[in-house]
Amino acid sequence: NDAPLTLLGTGAMGTALAHAWLKAGHPLTVWNRTAHRARPLAERGAVVAATAAHAVAASQLVVVCLFDDASVEETLDGIDLTGKDLVNLTTTTPAQARARAAWARERGARYLDGGIMAVPPMIGGADTGAYVLYSGSSAVHEAHRDTLAVPAAVTYLGEDPGHAALFDVALLSGMYGMFAGITHAYALLRADGVPAGELAPLLTSWLNAMTHTVPKMADQLDSGDYTKDVVSNLAMQADNDFLVRTAEEQKVSPELLAPYLRLMRQRVADGHGDEEGAGLVDLLRR
Ligand code: NDP
Repeated sequence: NDAPLTLLGTGAMGTALAHAWLKAGHPLTVWNRTAHRARPLAERGAVVAATAAHAVAASQLVVVCLFDDASVEETLDGIDLTGKDLVNLTTTTPAQARARAAWARERGARYLDGGIMAVPPMIGGADTGAYVLYSGSSAVHEAHRDTLAVPAAVTYLGEDPGHAALFDVALLSGMYGMFAGITHAYALLRADGVPAGELAPLLTSWLNAMTHTVPKMADQLDSGDYTKDVVSNLAMQADNDFLVRTAEEQKVSPELLAPYLRLMRQRVADGHGDEEGAGLVDLLRR
């Protein structure tokens, strides 16, 4: 499979994608707003187009990897997209992705949205765990699946063009919550002058061990039975103030933990101290 394609945007991520497609032998046309960032790809065999319109005209499959939704609008505005298969790997919100899909359809293009679950060094390598979430046109997904699978594995989430962005943001939100906990943990030790490296292997294995709560909470949420298989109930976790007191003793701000503790206590106060965390999901929904 060496189908030709066009790539708009050769920033850090676009360049990694381009290298993967070129290495696999795909004829590639690239364009970047700042031309010198695309030029090195010419040495690898890419055609560097002078304008975005020329780049789009070169291939049926047009992949876009720009900074944000506004840069996609700015770049594609006024360009003929009739008959194109537009694959947008730019990070956006679900609503932006749905609006962009409708916008593409009005211009005669089929639209597939993508959320890249990888950093550039993971692109194109074997077994890096990199994948891209896709949603939108199943026809585009089926027609170009082999080409799309070159830089990273393909995970297709169905016809709703907003779902790739929704899942992407959900995964990143889970990650930032984890980062918040890790940050607080290191702050507690640093206050005692303990090297972070002493905690690192323990924290790694502890967080890994706790990932069993991910499918367990999903089962509680989807079954509606929030007390199913409860091991550590909220009353036990929330009523003891050891977390905040330890932060105070160590002179560490509890600001990263406090919002989660507040929700746990709210749920207990609402009479659900026998649950684990599933009910907090309902407290968050506006
Ligand atoms: P970079 O900042 O390296 O590149 C941004 C790209 O967008 C450049 O090609 C830049 O062109 C272009 N651009 C910005 N504004 C405009 C505009 N108004 N008109 C036209 N082009 C514009 O970012 P990345 O390549 O890393 O990221 C690209 C996308 O990939 C983003 O949506 C990002 O969220 C996503 N992504 C990135 C990851 C990463 O780890 N890097 C991970 C997962 C997703 P110019 O060179 O002219 O400035």
